[in-house]
Amino acid sequence: MSEKIWLSSPTMHGDELIFVQEAFDTNWVAPLGPNVNSFEEEIASYIGGGYAAALASGTSAIHLAVKLAGVKSSDIVFCSDLTFSATVNPVSYEKAVQVFIDSEYDTWNVDPKALEKAFEKYPNCKCVIIANLYGVPAKLDEISDICKKHNAVLIEDAAESLSATYKGKQTGTFGKYGILSFNGNKIITTSGGGMLLSDDKEAIEKSRFWATQSRDRAPWYQHSELGYNYRMSNVVAGIGRGQLLHIEKHRELKKSIYMNYKEAFEDLPITMNPYLPYSEPNFWLSCALLDKGYNIHPMDIIDELASHNIEARPIWKPMHMQPFFESNDFISANGNVSSDIFNRGLCLPSDIKMTKKAQDKVINIIKSMF
Ligand SMILES: *Cc1c(COP(=O)(O)O)cnc(C)c1O
Repeated sequence: MSEKIWLSSPTMHGDELIFVQEAFDTNWVAPLGPNVNSFEEEIASYIGGGYAAALASGTSAIHLAVKLAGVKSSDIVFCSDLTFSATVNPVSYEKAVQVFIDSEYDTWNVDPKALEKAFEKYPNCKCVIIANLYGVPAKLDEISDICKKHNAVLIEDAAESLSATYKGKQTGTFGKYGILSFNGNKIITTSGGGMLLSDDKEAIEKSRFWATQSRDRAPWYQHSELGYNYRMSNVVAGIGRGQLLHIEKHRELKKSIYMNYKEAFEDLPITMNPYLPYSEPNFWLSCALLDKGYNIHPMDIIDELASHNIEARPIWKPMHMQPFFESNDFISANGNVSSDIFNRGLCLPSDIKMTKKAQDKVINIIKSMF
């Protein structure tokens, strides 16, 4: 069997080990430590300012953002429908209720028209969580304006979009809170980890307090608030510091993979996941959408690639189609776009260690099916 072609696997450079070695040499093998502080500063500076709290995962970052937004039991929170469940699960941790917002076809992200419609139905909603799917920035101006108009806190889930920009500005910076993930398959990884972003220094300090078990300033272990063990470890932060040095290269390679697919599929009934002309995705995953009415199902392509030891994946199954969320409301302005994308789309191998030859192999297998 030929060597496996991955969807998106970690790419290490060696610099990571320098920072990890430093952690070992100084015995900072603990949550917190100099790598954590530096990684927070380096990320904040990379995205263009504000403050950052390094956490155990992107999911824990969303959880703390939801708490900071003041979401309480039985509150309504508007969420991206087409996304990974981690975007929306923390709403349930706080016993609040997700209302899922349909996608649009220009970016596959939250449709501003559906969001506006949701505010007509639930005018008291005070928090909105949107994701930039597969590294493609959403219609962030329109979404921000709607949230402002209705006095709702916007949480931008930039777990998949670190290094993508919208009108020249980094994603993760458009909401009151932004979150990043450094899980194993993301554009840069720490094996596992996340970051909470905000311009609000006090909010970030509060998140660090919650993330370290909410210890009061007292000589003994005293707690006036519920705490969490959500901090990033100093060893893991070292991996992140080394990875961040290579993020531009990662994005360039991801982009060249996307462009290769786009060119190769020009004569096929396939389009690539689209983006706005004034946004620059990070091209984290290259996704294909089969033309309407075509008789090949995405699973046929995924299975065919798998038989050649090549990993491809379905599009995230929309949240309103998940058994766990079957009683939650779903708001759409224009049919059911997220289900349509799920039914016609797939994620193609987007691993930056893929050679040109390996990518041509993927392309030729797909071409041979049409
Ligand atoms: C990966 C991901 C997360 C969660 O990040 P973890 O670090 O795995 O907890 C959240 N939202 C989206 C859209 C993701 O892809």
